[in-house]
Amino acid sequence: RKSVHQIQSGQVIGDGLISVVKELVENSLDAHATSIEVRFKNCGLDAVEVVDNGSGIAPDNYESIALKHWTSKLTTYDDLDTVTTFGFRGEALSSLCALSDLHVITATASEAPKGTRLEFETSGKLKSRSVVAAQRGTTVVVENIFKTLPVRRKELERNVKREYTKVLGVLQAYAGVCVGVKFSVFNQPVKGRRTPVFATKGNPTTRENVANVFGAKTLVALVALDLQFEMKSTRRGGREMGSKEIKILGHISRPVVGEGRQAPDRQMFFVNGRPCILPQIARAFNEVYKTFNVTQSPFIFADLQMDTNAYDVNVSPDKRSILLHDQTELLESLKTSLITMFTNHEQ
Ligand code: ADP
Ligand code: MG
Repeated sequence: RKSVHQIQSGQVIGDGLISVVKELVENSLDAHATSIEVRFKNCGLDAVEVVDNGSGIAPDNYESIALKHWTSKLTTYDDLDTVTTFGFRGEALSSLCALSDLHVITATASEAPKGTRLEFETSGKLKSRSVVAAQRGTTVVVENIFKTLPVRRKELERNVKREYTKVLGVLQAYAGVCVGVKFSVFNQPVKGRRTPVFATKGNPTTRENVANVFGAKTLVALVALDLQFEMKSTRRGGREMGSKEIKILGHISRPVVGEGRQAPDRQMFFVNGRPCILPQIARAFNEVYKTFNVTQSPFIFADLQMDTNAYDVNVSPDKRSILLHDQTELLESLKTSLITMFTNHEQ
């Protein structure tokens, strides 16, 4: 029989492998890692492993980290309005314990080169700890994902190739947007050499990241995206918006019909550097390309930079969807300024 905890955990990890990887990578980013390695075994079916060089976990927290709703990140209730860390619900490790075999190896700066290996019970209670060799940082290993939810496990087994491809898309977005972070992704076993699926070099710009992830040639087919406009509305739900200014920065396909060199058919959207699903924004971009008679799907890497009061993050359990206030006005301004940018570019 399934426990309530397992069913709820299945909802937290609602997007399957994508949720697993997203939660682990965001924990690494929250720990200020500058190097993040994601290793899949058998496309994630056997294991997903995330190795970072972040702060490590303090021994005082070993007992708590996998308990439901425990988090080291949120300090006051007011923080809920302006969360800057990715995590704050304390649900990811707890859910992964309920759904898989999870273990953690971690070391803080003062402990390395000694570290600790932690194993947990399904409930999230600490089962065992042992001393191991480890560099500063944290490795989280998730094996046999969904082993406690047989239907979800079968579904993953059936669709693992497709899921894995989608996860790579999400990882490409993180690798592209995170400047100063070395990302590398591996899928094992690979025949012969240990070659990454892709890797970035800890570049200072998203442009260099895009070149690392999608190939240097891609840049030829791209132009810099640089939009800036003011929003007219100032209040939403009784709250004053701190700043009305919105910037949209990134890299997009040249708006040229029949452009010889094609950019990859990929579209990534971010809000303040956080990868998000923004279907209406995507549609607005694609509509503008159509008015320029571009029919092939353009490459879009677009980061919307705006005041944190202009949107709500915690709409979906896995925080990939975002609710933008004043969306209608934003879409209109976006289209107008993008058309202006393209028109100027063509001259
Ligand atoms: P949340 O991220 O919402 O706090 P999680 O369940 O994802 O909840 O993680 C629980 C806690 O475990 C975090 O608050 C953090 O203290 C610790 N933790 C998890 N992963 C890492 C990591 N890679 N590096 C450092 N600490 C981590
Ligand atoms: Mg987290």
